[in-house]
Amino acid sequence: MGSDAFPPFDPTQPARDAAFASAPVALCIVARDLRLLAVNARLAALAGAPVCALVGRPADDFLPGASALLNRWFDRIDAGRALHDQELSEPGGERTFLVSAAPLLDDAGSTAALSVALTDITRRRELRAALARRERQIGAALESAGQWIWELDIPTGRVARSRHWRRAVGYATGELSDEAQHTAWSIVHPEDRPGVIRRYEQVLAGTSEVFEAVYRIADRFGRWRWILGRGRIVARDASGKPLRLLATSVDITRQKQIEEELEATVRQRERLERELVEANRRLTELSEMDALTELPNRRKFDKALARELGRSGRNEPSLALLMIDVDDFKSYNDLYGHIEGDDCLRRIAEALRGCAVRPADLVTRYGGEEFATILPDSTKHDGESVATAMLQAVRALRIPHAGSPDGIVTVSIGITVRHAEAAPGGRRTDLLASADRALYAAKQAGRNRILIAGVDGSMYPVPVPDAAATDATPPGPG
Ligand code: GH3
Ligand code: MG
Ligand code: MG
Repeated sequence: MGSDAFPPFDPTQPARDAAFASAPVALCIVARDLRLLAVNARLAALAGAPVCALVGRPADDFLPGASALLNRWFDRIDAGRALHDQELSEPGGERTFLVSAAPLLDDAGSTAALSVALTDITRRRELRAALARRERQIGAALESAGQWIWELDIPTGRVARSRHWRRAVGYATGELSDEAQHTAWSIVHPEDRPGVIRRYEQVLAGTSEVFEAVYRIADRFGRWRWILGRGRIVARDASGKPLRLLATSVDITRQKQIEEELEATVRQRERLERELVEANRRLTELSEMDALTELPNRRKFDKALARELGRSGRNEPSLALLMIDVDDFKSYNDLYGHIEGDDCLRRIAEALRGCAVRPADLVTRYGGEEFATILPDSTKHDGESVATAMLQAVRALRIPHAGSPDGIVTVSIGITVRHAEAAPGGRRTDLLASADRALYAAKQAGRNRILIAGVDGSMYPVPVPDAAATDATPPGPG
């Protein structure tokens, strides 16, 4: 026995007796025959019997099953081996004790008895079991949610992750390098690492309460998996310096995929919508265009006129309307054929369009060999000058027409002007009718001329210098 063994037991020593009797732990002395030599008050209380009833009785009477342990311990002492604390439960499992023992030597220095201390750890064991159960539950819940817990020891930078994290990323035990296993950021995708570390440093600096980061880590097959990590500081030193970060991570690769697919779908939908809007716009444009002359058609004219007339307010804008009709066009067709007639219409259209240059001006093919022009925000003077330019432009084409008095293709034009003051709210039909009347009058007056009509019924000609038509020698047909 070593020098730290108890001195020989002397039950007559009164001071030691007193200390033994009132010790704040349950104590007893057990002889080699496993009988109780001495028992203190705490132990008697545990046993539920007075001290005198216990002394001399076998230890098994108080704690059944104790004899096996005590025998083992005597054997160990005899073999010169150390004793270790043991847990011992009552047969019914009601109470559990932590049993510690040390040898008591006789005068000859051999072990005469065992000094035994008992601590009732029933409650502690229950708590430990409950805690373990709780941990298992949490572990299972996290695992089934594809999550794992990790704890970062901030001063050393070492990380401890819950067991199943390896399974979550496809690794078997021992397959990861020590660095990957035990450091926090070495497993993070290099592109994501600076951002993650920045988040972490914000938490360390206290500018952010919660660590939260989305990043990639490589799985066992070298594929990058998206991870959402979230945690907070759970321990600080006395000066408030953070010591430990406790966090959970979850694999959000599938969610990320769905998110990306959704974004792609949204982008595709947006593109399709844009294409649809554009196709629709093109369709409208086509439905409002005349195929022969590529001028806006009657449909567009009607819409534009309605819109112009719909513009209301105290100062209703004035507007000039021009109706242009090709002179003697039936005979042109008869003389030169329909194909030539089409070509003639195209050239006239081109010439007319060149005369109305303001963005809001609209030259349209009204139908057949008739053209209509809207000049918004225009005075009588504006209408006259555009009409004059048109008449001259057609003459200047010098398209030979053997059936025309002038030997070339000409047009007649009727104008009407809505004056803001003179004819408030002039109706569409009124305007068209009065422009038509002016055109009819121009035809009656001999064609190749312009007449202007007010909605009030007035009518007068617009003088057009006719040098272009008369001075030049008409070219022969063909
Ligand atoms: P006016 O001087 O009184 O206007 O006589 P006009 O012969 O021009 O009048 P009319 O209304 O009798 O004839 C119009 C002609 O325009 C009849 C039609 O064949 C011709 N026309 C209408 N649309 C087209 C077309 O798209 N192409 C061709 N080539 N001719 C057309
Ligand atoms: Mg005509
Ligand atoms: Mg006509």
